[in-house]
Amino acid sequence: MAETGTLHDAFIDELRDTYDAERQLTKALPKLAKAAASPDLRDAFESHLEETQGQIERLEQVFASLDEKVRGKHCDGIAGIIDEGKSIMEEDFDDSTMDACLIAAGQRAEHYEMAAYGTLVAWAKAMGHDEAADLLQQTLDEEKAADEKLTALAEGGINQGAAEQAHGEDDAEPVGAGTGREGKNRKSIARRGRR
Ligand code: ZN
Ligand code: FE
Ligand code: FE
Repeated sequence: MAETGTLHDAFIDELRDTYDAERQLTKALPKLAKAAASPDLRDAFESHLEETQGQIERLEQVFASLDEKVRGKHCDGIAGIIDEGKSIMEEDFDDSTMDACLIAAGQRAEHYEMAAYGTLVAWAKAMGHDEAADLLQQTLDEEKAADEKLTALAEGGINQGAAEQAHGEDDAEPVGAGTGREGKNRKSIARRGRR
């Protein structure tokens, strides 16, 4: 019979889960970047990929600080979020709508990570694992910043561009009036994204 687990065991388990989640994200982020039409959105995914690689190294430092072997354990949660992102990329959306949906997918991942790191920081602090808590807090801050960057991009033109594709530039225009609704205007969206 297995021994009764402690919070420390749950903490190590959660670290392994998160380590695996970050590794899955290093494979998913390049796909999100490639699917993005807005250069700013592409940059956001690419720079978060670099950050994610640093986060993996930081988790390795956390394992070392606890005298634990570096080990991952399949994270079903992020796998599901990544799968949903993949389904979005298979849709035939206009560019700005695709970008809005990629942001939605990205933010689901960031919020999942924020929940994971929030718990990890709290548990590390509660158990007096100060070095681990400090490292994990650094990553939590990066995840929050990545989430805020996506919000800024969505609200800084991408959602509006997508809304105009849906409803036309004039708000008074009836839905389905169809002025170029089906048109792919990668260039104009790209310019909009740069503003
Ligand atoms: Zn502990
Ligand atoms: Fe991350
Ligand atoms: Fe992240």
